[in-house]
Amino acid sequence: MILILLGAPGSGKGTQAKRLTEKLGLTHLSTGDILREAVKAGTDLGNKAKGFMNSGELVPDDLIIDMITAKMEENAAGAGFMLDGFPRNLAQAERLSEIFEKKNLVIDQVIYLNAPEAELVKRLSGRFYCPQCNAGYNYPMHLPKNEGVCDNEGEKLLRRPDDEEDVVQKRLSVYREQTSPLEEYYRSQGNLVEIDANTSPDQVTEEIISSVSKVKTA
Ligand code: ADP
Repeated sequence: MILILLGAPGSGKGTQAKRLTEKLGLTHLSTGDILREAVKAGTDLGNKAKGFMNSGELVPDDLIIDMITAKMEENAAGAGFMLDGFPRNLAQAERLSEIFEKKNLVIDQVIYLNAPEAELVKRLSGRFYCPQCNAGYNYPMHLPKNEGVCDNEGEKLLRRPDDEEDVVQKRLSVYREQTSPLEEYYRSQGNLVEIDANTSPDQVTEEIISSVSKVKTA
């Protein structure tokens, strides 16, 4: 099964992808997570990507395509993928479609998480994470037991550099200009499912599961 999670920064892609891949047994491929690991490890890819990420710009398509192709090949033996953060513009969507055509693969569903911009900004500005285990927290919705430290690791919580206010605005405008055309692109191909992401995380998970189960039996 191949699922794509589409949605603006803060729409809940990462949270939902983690829950769903566990439930569905799929491999979670988050381009944002893979890039952040590369930056942390100081690889060639990480060094090339860092400046783009910290300013809220997209990383060049060729780097992303090579990276995601390699990850899909590494995980080809599994039950399928959930792509999170990719594709992110029309050129990437078209490259992905060519790759899948060659391999005789099809996209089962594109799940579009829709939330109003004011809600996205609120979520991103309250977001913190544990650098050790990657657990996410949100002020004031999902607080750690002790202020500022991770429940699992006792580690001091951090903000992603791209969650600073000016970078958030840039990421949202990049989404509007470059990524949101994919909503129409996939809608016209008939495999877009729109989910209201302005509700609780549990409700969003339930709706996605119900939508995916319909495709499975169709
Ligand atoms: P969010 O969706 O919350 O903005 P991500 O973790 O998906 O965050 O991505 C963080 C950053 O990584 C992006 O702002 C961008 O610089 C880079 N990135 C992630 N995926 C892609 C992609 N498919 N193409 C280009 N850049 C990407």
